[in-house]
Amino acid sequence: MMICDYCGKKGAKLRHITRSYGKGAGLLVIENVPVVSCPDCGQSYLTAETLHEIERIKRHRRSIATQRTVPVVKFALAG
Ligand SMILES: [Zn+2]
Repeated sequence: MMICDYCGKKGAKLRHITRSYGKGAGLLVIENVPVVSCPDCGQSYLTAETLHEIERIKRHRRSIATQRTVPVVKFALAG
């Protein structure tokens, strides 16, 4: 259990999600990003440490990323 940065209550939980940055050829998908999620106020946020690490990953993407072919769908409303 963590203390929520927004409402200060204990009970915030860590979830791990997949986030994508950029688009097209510049798209970078980062898996397992820790997100603090607070059931009291409903906020979800990344800690400063996580944001810092994401910036580091983006800078070093060429050396640390693995290429995977994944199906990508562009969302579009029908009609
Ligand atoms: Zn909160």
